[in-house]
Amino acid sequence: MRGDARLLRRLNERRILNAIRLKGPVSRTELQRELGLALPTVSRGVDRLLERGWIRSVGSGDSTGGRPPELVEINPNGGFALGVDLGRDTVTTVITDLFARPKCMSTVRLAGLGGPEGLVQYLSDFAETSGCSPDLLVGIGVAAPGPLDTYAGRLLQPENMPEVWHGVCMASLLQKRFSVPVYLENDANAAALGETWFGDWGDVRHALFILADAGVGAGVVIDGSIYAGAHDMAGEFSHMIVNVDGDWCTCGRRGCVTSVASRHAIEWNVQRSRERQENEPFEEIIRRAKGGMEPEVSVVQSAILYLSVGIANMAYTFDPDLVILGGSMLLVDKFVSNAVIHELQRLMRSRCTIVETQFGLQAVAIGGATLALQGIYDVKPLVAVDS
Ligand SMILES: [Zn+2]
Repeated sequence: MRGDARLLRRLNERRILNAIRLKGPVSRTELQRELGLALPTVSRGVDRLLERGWIRSVGSGDSTGGRPPELVEINPNGGFALGVDLGRDTVTTVITDLFARPKCMSTVRLAGLGGPEGLVQYLSDFAETSGCSPDLLVGIGVAAPGPLDTYAGRLLQPENMPEVWHGVCMASLLQKRFSVPVYLENDANAAALGETWFGDWGDVRHALFILADAGVGAGVVIDGSIYAGAHDMAGEFSHMIVNVDGDWCTCGRRGCVTSVASRHAIEWNVQRSRERQENEPFEEIIRRAKGGMEPEVSVVQSAILYLSVGIANMAYTFDPDLVILGGSMLLVDKFVSNAVIHELQRLMRSRCTIVETQFGLQAVAIGGATLALQGIYDVKPLVAVDS
């Protein structure tokens, strides 16, 4: 088969599979109407997907005269995706079905893996013990802190990550072991993609995911795809100035999101106000702030205000349907996420919906799995990567 014809066939298969995901159970005639393809093209595509096991037949629909049409839907366990949240301190791994629903999950310390080869071995063991057949693995998505070369699947020099990870080509390492497509993406972008594709938010095409852990970043999804920008920096707002008179930042300017509104900034400001040598645990600071105790309540309120200013500026720039809050700083207690939602509603006057992630602290790992699933449902990565 000529290359163009093969590519066209794969594009059509992905369109058919995605239409079945969104509309199933659905008949071939309905798919034909939905996609505007010729009926033989739809039928051949459906047959190949049935053979592959990604869809299944679920009996017959209502007849309009002749033989009742066969209905098909996604076979959730006909394939699975491996998602990896490669964090600075921990690695969270998830195996999902074809709807990105977790089947098993695990979190380990990054330091315990030794390095990239240790991670590959760990993932191999994890997949093996999960009970999911290796033949059914559709792909692997790794979500990691930037900077990254997403096209080559390579980590660059992620800040605060041990040097053994710098410059590592995750894509070739994992492809060698697993022989499936491997995707590498910025952590916040992957989380944004996961929520947009598989979150229960209705028809969301444009979303921002705010990932506030030790650092602060945002993932941007536009029209169902990650928008990374020219240098993979589109959602990078940690050095957006939100208070011109704020604390000095490591970048040499004052009042960046990271210097006035990050978890580190909260810890540092409490430590400074209390004139202590050591940090208090973040959870303890939040507990005190919740109880109205000073200086914690002022420090936390100030950070929430400036973080919200940064998020509102991002939302005014990208005009999303949905802003999703995630990461350990925001999810530590409803007190924090609710305060940010309240502040954003005040600043933005219901311009868009603001929610807490429905995937909790697993949002980035599920986003990783979504990268792999996007590889079977979406035509865009096929054109961008596989061709
Ligand atoms: Zn800065």
